[in-house]
Amino acid sequence: MHLKGRKAIVVGAGVSGLAAARLLLARDAAVDLYDDAPRERLRPEVAVLEAAGAQVLAGGATPDPTRYDLAVVSPGISADAAVLQTLAAAGVERIAEVELAFRLLTAPVLAITGTNGKTTTVELLGRVFADAGRSVFVGGNVGTPLSDAVGDHWDAVVAEVSSFQLETVDRFRPRVAVLLNLTDDHLDRHPDRGAYAAAKARLFANQGPGDAAVVNADDPAAWALKRPGGGVLLPYSTRRMLPVGAWLEGAEGVVLLPGRDGMRFPAGELRLPGEHNRGNALAACLAAAWVGIDPGAAWRCAQRFEGLGHRIERFLEWRGVQFVDDSKATNVGAAVSALQTVAGPVVWVAGGVDKGGDYGPLVPVLQAVARQVILVGEAAEQMAGALHGAAPLLVAPGWPAAVSAAVSAAHPGDTVLLAPACSSFDHFSGYAQRGEVFQRLCREETGRRDAGGH
Ligand code: ADP
Repeated sequence: MHLKGRKAIVVGAGVSGLAAARLLLARDAAVDLYDDAPRERLRPEVAVLEAAGAQVLAGGATPDPTRYDLAVVSPGISADAAVLQTLAAAGVERIAEVELAFRLLTAPVLAITGTNGKTTTVELLGRVFADAGRSVFVGGNVGTPLSDAVGDHWDAVVAEVSSFQLETVDRFRPRVAVLLNLTDDHLDRHPDRGAYAAAKARLFANQGPGDAAVVNADDPAAWALKRPGGGVLLPYSTRRMLPVGAWLEGAEGVVLLPGRDGMRFPAGELRLPGEHNRGNALAACLAAAWVGIDPGAAWRCAQRFEGLGHRIERFLEWRGVQFVDDSKATNVGAAVSALQTVAGPVVWVAGGVDKGGDYGPLVPVLQAVARQVILVGEAAEQMAGALHGAAPLLVAPGWPAAVSAAVSAAHPGDTVLLAPACSSFDHFSGYAQRGEVFQRLCREETGRRDAGGH
């Protein structure tokens, strides 16, 4: 992609937008950096870019679309944002930040999407490459933007891609595209389920010979997704044998690539809990095998992987009760996985900001495992309506009250589980802060009871 002399506008001055602007400037493009937020609320790094020649349009400044021939869009910007409409009406070429990076990268890209498990699987796959002695860049939707990978030598780029990033990709063509699952999420931002699924499907659209589409055959919606593109379909399943792809057979894993001999390996216990994580590990083994890494070595690497914080993280045991923080379960699908994974009976703490999905899938699992449901935050009443009758349920007026009720409700052998099924922005800066507050409140509450002799 030739950038020298192009006149670009970067829409959104978050981490990805700033990385894109840096990259464009390094390639001698003229760069305007646009953000709705006022100048003083933008990251300090904006000043560095300004000094390097970028113009900053902040706080509602209206860009003149005739000045640009390229718009690079950050993942945080909604496709129907007014500024994008204006640029589109003027015929400005519009690409996502991942697309810009992709066009300039020389290494094969392994891209991972899905409603849940992206970060876990991306991190795991990164370690698999590093273990195999290959230089690997790990980034994308969270962490380091892909634009930062451009210019260095990598044997592989492992990228987490979100539905928002995929909305505006055009030629993005991963060597391996992984779809982990598809359940309701972000329906507050995508017009409907169809649009959310269509965005995910774009991951496969440009694949051709030599590429692989790794898809979870155990997830009906992921499996049913119409996958455009010409990559080889490689399914995986933790539950059944498949004609091709990867699966678990007792204590063994099997990877079978088309036209090749099957590869069997011991698939011993993982540190990461739950069937969903065995699926994530299998996806990583299959993706690795496609690019020539021994899947047995990949599974051994998965066995050592301790996972990431606030994802089914057991942080406290008190009087025979386990306390688990899965604050990252910001949608129904992830909360269902957590409820199925932890030891029951479960005292389930949930709530936050509703994302427009259906709470229905929680009902059967709550009927099976929940001793008590404790709802808190903005969506609490709405959730209470949807989950009514599934298990004993109470709405707490705040987080301290929710934790106190949870500690009171739990019996020895139970698990107190935070898996909110909602985003955190009613009370917190993000899922990490919500998890930290929950852990602190649990420690304080149990400590108080110890001190008070209850
Ligand atoms: P993402 O980056 O897609 O949000 P994370 O790895 O951060 O994924 O995990 C998000 C949440 O989903 C966590 O609560 C985690 O326990 C749960 N999770 C991880 N993998 C899966 C999976 N394959 N299916 C369902 N839930 C999952």
